[in-house]
Amino acid sequence: MSRPFNFAPGPARLPPEVLEQAAAEMLDYQGSGMSVMEMSHRGKHYTRIQDEAMADFRSLLGVPSDYEVLFMQGGAIAENSIVPLNLSRGGKVDFVVTGSWSKKSAAEATKYCDAKVIASAEQNGHFTHIPAVDTWGSRTDAQYLHLCTNETIHGVEFHALPNTKTDIVADVSSHILSRRMDVSKYACLFGGAQKNVGISGLTFVVVRKDLLGHALLSCPGAFDYQTVAANGSMFNTPPTYAVYIAGLVFKWLKEQGGVAAIEARNIQKSQELYDFIDASHLYAARVSPDCRSRMNVTFDLRDSALNDRFVEGGASAGLLAFRGHKSAGGMRASIYNAMPIEGVRALIAYMREFERLA
Ligand code: PMP
Repeated sequence: MSRPFNFAPGPARLPPEVLEQAAAEMLDYQGSGMSVMEMSHRGKHYTRIQDEAMADFRSLLGVPSDYEVLFMQGGAIAENSIVPLNLSRGGKVDFVVTGSWSKKSAAEATKYCDAKVIASAEQNGHFTHIPAVDTWGSRTDAQYLHLCTNETIHGVEFHALPNTKTDIVADVSSHILSRRMDVSKYACLFGGAQKNVGISGLTFVVVRKDLLGHALLSCPGAFDYQTVAANGSMFNTPPTYAVYIAGLVFKWLKEQGGVAAIEARNIQKSQELYDFIDASHLYAARVSPDCRSRMNVTFDLRDSALNDRFVEGGASAGLLAFRGHKSAGGMRASIYNAMPIEGVRALIAYMREFERLA
């Protein structure tokens, strides 16, 4: 299968092997006579699909036994409400804003708790760094600290978690399974599936068990983590096809050698792209080197009049969807787990040639 390289931020490129298997099983899943889309979520086929997907996710991520893994719906944006409904106890919650997603989370949480932005990296609408931890006005009595540890739009990534006594809740939508994560350092992590896990419709939540059972009364039953956990993520009908695709992605990732192996490749891929950008005269990376995202590489053309030509020329060369988010401008190449090094090298070769002709 020869396909263009898709640098979209999510929904994003899937491993071709996953698409091929899903296609082969589309009309008849393993002799069931049905597509996964058509079968009961309580039947034996789907129950096995979900159990295996959960178990594989747990083992890939290294989830300790005192954490629940929940498969939910609503995406990470719904979690901006669901997390404070479950974990804030209506009290204080601190936010560090390093891009649009953490900013959005903080704004939404004000509906449910005393949400406070204790540090923000925003400068003229841009986010290019992580504020120094000793400048954060952390509140000692905060229920938790919310971070977005990879800001998909601006390309700012935490490469280490801050040392803090406060429980950390992290939106990891766009770098889950791209690197090793010590789950025990988080109270809760969550995200949408449509970058490194699969397709939209599935939201994953990993939460420490002792935090369950304190949802606000106004929390809908379907969003109460304790209820979802008690029902094995089947309190309501799960997004069955999205869970099936996630299961295929997890098997693919295991075949690649797991998270440590993919992390090494992600370091290589992002390093080659940033090194090229830093050495060029036409392109400029946006983010401070210490917190550049390995997943979402944001950069500008020093002459922005060339932007349209750059994007259109890329599309003609089979390199798709690397224009920056409309709120951020510039360029962004999203190079999640499923982007092979060949895709990154093809992009670099195109950029080199474009610069030569510019
Ligand atoms: N958080 C982050 C870090 C994201 O990248 C996104 C989607 N790009 C969201 C939240 C929102 O996700 P959804 O649209 O699935 O709710």
